[in-house]
Amino acid sequence: MESCSVKPLKRLPTKKECIKSLGDISKLPKRLQICFEEEDIDQQFIRKKPFSGPDCDTYEWIYRHDTPQQTLAEYHADGPNKVYSNQCKVYLKPQDEKIPEYFLTCCFKYAKAFFHGMHVQLLPCGDWKNLDIKVYEKSYGIQLDSSDIMEKTFYKKPKDTYTYMNIVRDDLSRKGFGYVIGVSNFKSNTGVFSTARYDPEWRKCLSPGDDDEEDEKEEEISYESLVHKQNQFNRLLFRSLKVLAHEITHTFCMPHCPYYECLMNGSNTIIEGKRKPMYLCPVCLRKMQSVIGFDIIERYQKIVEVIEELENPFFEDTLAWYKERLEQVENRAFKEGAYKPYRIVHPEVPLPMKKVVRTVVKKKKPARPGLMPKEEVKKSNTKGKKLTAIQRLIMEKKNKK
Ligand SMILES: [Zn+2]
Ligand SMILES: [Zn+2]
Repeated sequence: MESCSVKPLKRLPTKKECIKSLGDISKLPKRLQICFEEEDIDQQFIRKKPFSGPDCDTYEWIYRHDTPQQTLAEYHADGPNKVYSNQCKVYLKPQDEKIPEYFLTCCFKYAKAFFHGMHVQLLPCGDWKNLDIKVYEKSYGIQLDSSDIMEKTFYKKPKDTYTYMNIVRDDLSRKGFGYVIGVSNFKSNTGVFSTARYDPEWRKCLSPGDDDEEDEKEEEISYESLVHKQNQFNRLLFRSLKVLAHEITHTFCMPHCPYYECLMNGSNTIIEGKRKPMYLCPVCLRKMQSVIGFDIIERYQKIVEVIEELENPFFEDTLAWYKERLEQVENRAFKEGAYKPYRIVHPEVPLPMKKVVRTVVKKKKPARPGLMPKEEVKKSNTKGKKLTAIQRLIMEKKNKK
């Protein structure tokens, strides 16, 4: 929680300013352009508005912090961290052996889809105790100095690092804040996030005075402890992945977003953090795309795939949103002749990055040239083929009709 006094809310961007901040999309390849159509944006994204309700101005980020507009042009003028082939890795560095492996695997998979096009790597587990960082004693336990973690790991990060994100289980402190859940620095490209405040076990140590906000009430839970534990873990994972994506996005020189309801909105409290969506608004997506160069439709597909794989009920709304958005942009791609049955990346600016290696299945040569053996004919029949995500969507759509 932050301690400064309440500032008056600055004016939020108008609809015109939101669209203008996207920059000139007319020169983009059609397949990218269709992801920023004003009409679709109006349907799928909600412009940022302050939350109403009692005490909202006491807690909300937007009331307390200056969140200026930053257009795409300004973003590039400010010199965003470019992605180079020798500096393109997003490293996830667990700093506590008690962090479950499954949790880390989920972090890795999610980051790989969210930052599609970047090389994400999960590093072997380290221990913050070996980092010689400042540790503060609190009534509820210890608090690690987040700035110190970033500073100490800055010198340990591999040379090809784009982002070095530390993951800890203990609570984090930051100057001017009582605690932080995650923090990152785009100059050093390091960050750290903690699962402590989302962990029901850790929260048990808090006494009422330690925490000036109430976490949401537990949903009705099954008395079977395993189901209960699973539910708690799913919630912890859902919230952690949001923080992870938010903090890594900051390392792309992206500030907090005042435009739409967006993953990059600033948040002061757990409740406010919970309200913001898991996805990037068009302005933030445009900025990230211009740096990494991914195909937006392909990125949406990857995210849908990974969320489906997680089978986490807390992702239900997020998954529904991504599916709807994917359908919207794919429909438009059909209409505009920008649909690609095979995923082809159109980087806006060709980046000196690794070539995407696809596994090529070598076809057996027919015994006699010009003639296809019987088995080959059978295989080429589409009926038994595994469908790609796009094909599945088309089939689903056809079936609906
Ligand atoms: Zn932030
Ligand atoms: Zn945004």
